[in-house]
Amino acid sequence: MNAPESESRRRLLKKLALAASVSTLASTQLRAEDLPLINVSDPAAKAVKYVEDTSKVKEAQGNRCDTCALYAGKDGSTQGPCQIFKGKAVKAAGWCTAWAPQI
Ligand code: SF4
Repeated sequence: MNAPESESRRRLLKKLALAASVSTLASTQLRAEDLPLINVSDPAAKAVKYVEDTSKVKEAQGNRCDTCALYAGKDGSTQGPCQIFKGKAVKAAGWCTAWAPQI
């Protein structure tokens, strides 16, 4: 193999590696958005008094999941992953007693 061909092959391999990384990242994001909502009757949800509508809970003092440091949904999303409920999503307008301010 001559030098220009070897250089071309290296560039192609770098592009393929980059494409694979972007593809993995995109599918991870898609999975996060497709997570099922946690059910309010789930024992883990009950343990932290999770509700889907914070406006119905005085204790929440106006705080919501989408202002919580543990919320991992996109800006403007209606739901997203929460770090305390692995594999489940929470409503952006939800709340629980584990709410923590964003820093
Ligand atoms: Fe919502 Fe934060 Fe509680 Fe998760 S930890 S349910 S994002 S308030």
